[in-house]
Amino acid sequence: MISEVFANSTLVLPKAATYLEAVSTVKSVSPHLTFMETYWAAWYHYMQNDVLATGLLFFCLHEFMYFGRCLPWFIIDCIPYFNQWKIQATKIPSGKEQWECFKYVLIHHFLVEAIPIWGFHPLCQKLGISVAVPFPEISTMLWQIGLFSVLEDSWHYWFHRLFHYGPFYKYIHKQHHRYAAPFGFAAEYAHPVETMALGFGTVGFPIVFVYFTGNLHLFTLCIWITLRLFQAIDSHSGYDFPWSLHNFVPFWAGAEHHDLHHHYFIGNYASSFRWWDFTLDTEAGPEAKAEREERMRLKAERNAKKAN
Ligand SMILES: [Zn+2]
Ligand SMILES: [Zn+2]
Repeated sequence: MISEVFANSTLVLPKAATYLEAVSTVKSVSPHLTFMETYWAAWYHYMQNDVLATGLLFFCLHEFMYFGRCLPWFIIDCIPYFNQWKIQATKIPSGKEQWECFKYVLIHHFLVEAIPIWGFHPLCQKLGISVAVPFPEISTMLWQIGLFSVLEDSWHYWFHRLFHYGPFYKYIHKQHHRYAAPFGFAAEYAHPVETMALGFGTVGFPIVFVYFTGNLHLFTLCIWITLRLFQAIDSHSGYDFPWSLHNFVPFWAGAEHHDLHHHYFIGNYASSFRWWDFTLDTEAGPEAKAEREERMRLKAERNAKKAN
């Protein structure tokens, strides 16, 4: 069976005994491919089974990127020098706390997320998500990822806000709030229902998008999911550095935004951007609360004057 990775050609390549052999075969028959495209195509060629190739790729990408991104934050927590940039400086997570959280997240990944990941290639085929080389233009990937991040942020804002309501909080979202001072590993420490509901914002919109447009590449999806993972982990890191992104991009949420949510349990519901919380007046923290109260006081005064 010819892999879909070569959908645009009639190439029939000899089976490769090793991955590196697959790389050199792809290089010799398609020298025009970029570095990433060559290694991508070689993976599918080496696996000789697209379902397994996509499933393994997705699962490994998730594990590698998640724990790979958490590791620097774990190391930073062990070095007192960095404490000067810790948002809740007195609350350094203990090794035991981090270990408990790590174990939960790992088991959770295997139990809850392995199944959708393994069924992903058939879904891609049905929806028309391409795995073929060459990849789309960088500009196409950029605008699609930009669109997904805006949609995900909106979804996250409303569902996260809902999860703070009565029974939703008590039975589902409370688990994620176990850590009032979050750390990297805590990003995916959540009830399975929450993982599914908020995860739709990340994976569901690309599915809806490709359903209507037929224009999406699996590589774009891999980049988007990686960036979203980085965003989620960094926003739980507990550190706000002078070089943190929100200092240069004022609408970027970052750790400072989400740490306040964990600290005060209320407000700052969005994931990546600040515009929803700003516009709908749900910003967290004592300063935002004081400003809100001041605005309400002025409004009441104005109304009283009008009434007189
Ligand atoms: Zn919350
Ligand atoms: Zn959180």
